[in-house]
Amino acid sequence: MADRFDQHAVRHRMKLLRSDGDVTLYANRDDVPCPACEEPFDRLLLTERRSHSFDLGDTDRLCVAREADRLLVCTHER
Ligand SMILES: [Zn+2]
Repeated sequence: MADRFDQHAVRHRMKLLRSDGDVTLYANRDDVPCPACEEPFDRLLLTERRSHSFDLGDTDRLCVAREADRLLVCTHER
């Protein structure tokens, strides 16, 4: 596994849902593997903020991957 998740390398396999500068949210549309558990995620949040709150809804698993300057959060839905 790479030290850093390269969203640009798999950009064509994801749909951009939201981009606020320091927060980016993608939906998976081609079974891109989760950087934490390696199973395809449903949504991926990339954030450079210090804290976040989440409403989990139908999320079955929440995965996080920490990098030097950002946090990745992947959700796996039922
Ligand atoms: Zn995962």
